[in-house]
Amino acid sequence: MELIDGKKISNKKREEIRDKVDKIIRETGKTPGLATILVGKNPASQVYIKSKIKACENVKIKSFHHNLDETSSKEDIIGLIKKLNKNPEIDGILLQLPLTENKDTQDCINSISPLKDVDGLHPFNAGLLNLSKSWDDVIKKNILVSCTPLGVMHLLHKSNVEIESKTAVIIGRSNLVGKPLSMLLLSKNATVIIAHSKTKNLKEICKSADILITAMGKPNFINREFIKNGIALIDVGINRVSGKICGDVNFESVKDMNIKITPVPGGVGPMTITMLLENTLKAFYNRK
Ligand code: NAP
Repeated sequence: MELIDGKKISNKKREEIRDKVDKIIRETGKTPGLATILVGKNPASQVYIKSKIKACENVKIKSFHHNLDETSSKEDIIGLIKKLNKNPEIDGILLQLPLTENKDTQDCINSISPLKDVDGLHPFNAGLLNLSKSWDDVIKKNILVSCTPLGVMHLLHKSNVEIESKTAVIIGRSNLVGKPLSMLLLSKNATVIIAHSKTKNLKEICKSADILITAMGKPNFINREFIKNGIALIDVGINRVSGKICGDVNFESVKDMNIKITPVPGGVGPMTITMLLENTLKAFYNRK
């Protein structure tokens, strides 16, 4: 087993981002800014938001945090987003998900200016990604793509995992992870299979993978019976079991296999936050 050290890879990338921010401040006198919005008091979301704010501080991106009450309506959220859209100090807006029930998440996302949509969830940015013809296209056009899929691509790249013509199986079809990741892998010429809860023969499908990415939210679901030797296994899942965080992969069951694998914690999680910083810079450049 070879560990894909998300923390180490992510720290290296954050150093590069910090250098870029320094340069921006030196050359333009402006500081890139990220606004975060948390609705309610979901404990996990509070932890994520705290990490995001801290990560901004560490690379000198200015952060503007807004806490909205649990009882806030969709109109309250959209009202705040509209103000942030107009604020020239703010380059990116991140609405922490999930929102509590009945808040019409997509309507709230749609109110974010596509230029400030650092989560890549606005239909404009999701559309651009779907229409892109190649990885170069995605990069050259500075498309704002969801942070976790971008982080996964960065981990694969830095771990020298070959993607072209390989079979990539993604378990999960969310707008946040599975769907955009499928587009990115496709843009790198992988043969992509997306599995979900209605997929039959999941084990056999997973066994065909050269790259397997799990984004299910099912603790320890994937064991050695699902994988073959030689693959790259990226565990996106974050699950809490008895107060401890674990992924979708049963790490103990696969650790003696000849595979590259991300740990949880310390794999995709730190990369996601790093890509949020990268997207804030992208948004800064795009707006200028
Ligand atoms: P989601 O919207 O709940 O999607 C989960 C996906 O898994 C769905 O497509 C679902 O299928 C599929 N699934 C569930 N059970 C399955 C099963 N038994 N067999 C096959 N497919 C199954 O979740 P998400 O937002 O994509 O997040 C997925 C996981 O990643 C969660 O644990 C989340 O906490 C974690 N996450 C981590 C990061 C990070 O930075 N590391 C970022 C985002 C999310 P259906 O569509 O058919 O329901």
